[in-house]
Amino acid sequence: MKAVRMHGYGGVEQLFYEDAPEPRLVQSGDVIVKLKAAAINHIDIWNRMGVTGIAVPMPHILGADGAGIVAEVGANVGNVKAGDRVCLYPLTGCDQCEFCLTDRDFMCFRLRVLGERLEGTYARYVKLPAQNCFPIPADYSFEEAAAFPLVFITLWRMLVTNAELKPGETVLIIGIGGGVASASLQVAKKIGARVIVTSGSEEKLARAKNLGADHGIHHRTQDFVAEVRRLTGERGVDVVLDCVGGEVWRKSLTCLALEGRLVTCGATAGGHAVDDIAAICSKELKIYGSTLGSREEFRLLSNFLNRAKIRPIIDSVFPLREAAAAQRYVEEARQFGKVVLKIPD
Ligand SMILES: [Zn+2]
Repeated sequence: MKAVRMHGYGGVEQLFYEDAPEPRLVQSGDVIVKLKAAAINHIDIWNRMGVTGIAVPMPHILGADGAGIVAEVGANVGNVKAGDRVCLYPLTGCDQCEFCLTDRDFMCFRLRVLGERLEGTYARYVKLPAQNCFPIPADYSFEEAAAFPLVFITLWRMLVTNAELKPGETVLIIGIGGGVASASLQVAKKIGARVIVTSGSEEKLARAKNLGADHGIHHRTQDFVAEVRRLTGERGVDVVLDCVGGEVWRKSLTCLALEGRLVTCGATAGGHAVDDIAAICSKELKIYGSTLGSREEFRLLSNFLNRAKIRPIIDSVFPLREAAAAQRYVEEARQFGKVVLKIPD
């Protein structure tokens, strides 16, 4: 089959569009999916660079997000059949630890994610457990079905499960433009929250306004802490989504109202931020770190997307053979929404 494989850790020059062996069914609970689309995530880039600390045999197929048609099912599979259109819940655990035994395998110490410890979705076929196959929401295209799982499950756990964002509350989203941030904007608006976003790009702020953002703050020309104070009548916001970290982190804490919640799923500007512990205590702040989410959260999320008629934002679609160019585009942070790979028949 055709696939994009990584031959070593490093830059995009390590990615090759080439022939690779097709996956074979071994476990009776597994399925093989003929992929129609995959999506690019930062996790693919970190895996390619070798900064995750996870060593994989080379050559290796990247890609955590995908959607396609079930091609083959193991003897014990009952939830899907050949021909079903499916999107993929991207991780699986060991089935034995306390987390796996209580529907929290995303917290498993032996977590395996597609494209990480498992062969990924930059390929014509992928093998995975049948319980990771979910129906594609409503009338999504394969590109849309590949674009939503990783970012939406991540934001769902952050904003809905952990921060418990409520209608009428105000949320501040730092750095609108990335997949999680733009998807958070969509979900927060449907929940009924007031949404303030920041960006260093006028174009991204304009796109966020078109998606329903109530206020946009240009963080290079405006002091976003002062602006948030002004917009909230000195009160501050209920929730901040900060996946930037670094210098921004302390400002994010400053923007929170009493009993405010800060959620994060990473730190693109540096993971060793300075906390304002006095503010955390005196304002009774809560800080939630999140990584992915459970199958139950994925099921609720899929239902929500159907009911709320949310479609993932797709910035651009590259052919599979141009995966290297697509990754470079994401590394340069030029996108608004998701960058998708279309997989040829
Ligand atoms: Zn486990």
